[in-house]
Amino acid sequence: VQRHAHLPVGRRAFIAGVAASVIASCSKDDPASSPAPTSAIPRRPRLAADPFRLGVASGDPLPDQVVLWTRLAPDPLAGGLAGMPDTPVEVEWQVAADPGFTSIVADGAATAEPGAAHSVHVDAAGLDPATDYHYRFRVDGFTSPVGQTRTAPASGGARLRLAVVTCQDFGSGYYAAYRHLLAERVDLVVHLGDYIYEWAFDTPERPILPPGVPATLDDYRLRHATYRLDPDLQAAHARFPFALMWDDHEVFNNYAGATVPDDSVDPESVRARRAAAYRAYWEHLPLRIDPPTGPDVRLYRDLRFGNLARLHLLDVRQYADEPPCRDGAGDDFGDCPARLDERAYLGPVQEAWLDGSLAQGGVVWNLVGSPTLVAGVDLGPPGRPGYYLETWDGYPAERARVIERLARPDVANPVVLSGDWHAGMVNDVHLVPGDVTTPVVAPELMTPPISSPLYEVARAQNPHVHHVVDRHGYLILQVEPSRLTATFRVLDDVRRPDSGISTDSSWPFAAKTPGAPAR
Ligand code: FE
Ligand code: CA
Repeated sequence: VQRHAHLPVGRRAFIAGVAASVIASCSKDDPASSPAPTSAIPRRPRLAADPFRLGVASGDPLPDQVVLWTRLAPDPLAGGLAGMPDTPVEVEWQVAADPGFTSIVADGAATAEPGAAHSVHVDAAGLDPATDYHYRFRVDGFTSPVGQTRTAPASGGARLRLAVVTCQDFGSGYYAAYRHLLAERVDLVVHLGDYIYEWAFDTPERPILPPGVPATLDDYRLRHATYRLDPDLQAAHARFPFALMWDDHEVFNNYAGATVPDDSVDPESVRARRAAAYRAYWEHLPLRIDPPTGPDVRLYRDLRFGNLARLHLLDVRQYADEPPCRDGAGDDFGDCPARLDERAYLGPVQEAWLDGSLAQGGVVWNLVGSPTLVAGVDLGPPGRPGYYLETWDGYPAERARVIERLARPDVANPVVLSGDWHAGMVNDVHLVPGDVTTPVVAPELMTPPISSPLYEVARAQNPHVHHVVDRHGYLILQVEPSRLTATFRVLDDVRRPDSGISTDSSWPFAAKTPGAPAR
């Protein structure tokens, strides 16, 4: 212990604990290794196996804070508490300036509660802006993998690099995109939803639990654990902070408010499913929100990156009215006169919040993260329009107000980032979506899916769609004061875990000049 005397107390205790556990496991019969003082008697049995099998994660970076996450789960696929005792467990955490943890800048202890599936959300504070950090957890002598994270800039900001991802159906392919993402120097990963899928698209190589569609909290916990055992996803979480927004599949395909496409499902059961799904989502991800305790959870929020950019993350499912023209049998594609009627998508409270969030100003770029397509895409045969009605195309009245807001002169350089389509796209968001005779208000960058099945985009009747990426992958955004550059990175083959990656195309946008560049 003497040789650690120069170190901060937190690190010394951390190392002493590791050493003690090594001794304990190597010489169980040696009475000298047993904790002697009564005060040191553990109040529960020590964990018998590594509880850090789901890895670590960080997220929602502020200039001086970042959320650190882990979930204690020695047996992640066992169901229930994943091999943990039904008691609270104290977990130590550390943040260091270096990967060797010689320079500890913050540390402490957090309690992992069985009611939260022994997840830990530490909002580590007192950090420096725009700085890289390393973090780890420890319990019972087990030390977690080391995570890397980065705080947001406090002011200024010459350059910000973001990865934008969406749609990672586990059974539809491998997460090679996440493996390649490790080599990208990004400050943050923005996840725009379909983090898990409720359907159990199973393959022998990618078995998924539980079988069938989850309904209970235990079910959703098990589904998240299945995803998080993937080594590439786990490595991406350990390497970069994430800012996440859910779409529909975190709960149920195309749910809107308390409705699902099947009319025979009653609203109370949708709300019960939401409560379970929202709780499990929070338990497994590094989110700075109050722990969900029911079907109503505020997740929409904004993150600021100095004077360079603000990210506004929208929740388009929880507050939505039922989409129009639903046939009641599960299909949300088509059109009908009622499509144009007023109905909530963000809902009035979130709409007012977005209004205020955009009005904050002080940044060069306003990045609007929408889980679904904003610019509008008509997929019907010529002369007979057809729309995906659970995207903004089903909510044109509210969309018109949001686009008018983005068009206000005090909203600097709006750029829409979106997900869910299962294709990459570069679109123009026109004042009247799809009507190219009206002004372009913002470019829309639709990120391709990480692994979910690819869907088509018809180009002929959609002249505001400048580019389609019919591949899996992700989007890299390089944000600078004078320009924003969007680069699509695409996989050779999502069915191969060792798939290569290449650049599909790169799109520069000059600040103060809305709209996609002519090509
Ligand atoms: Fe999806
Ligand atoms: Ca979706």
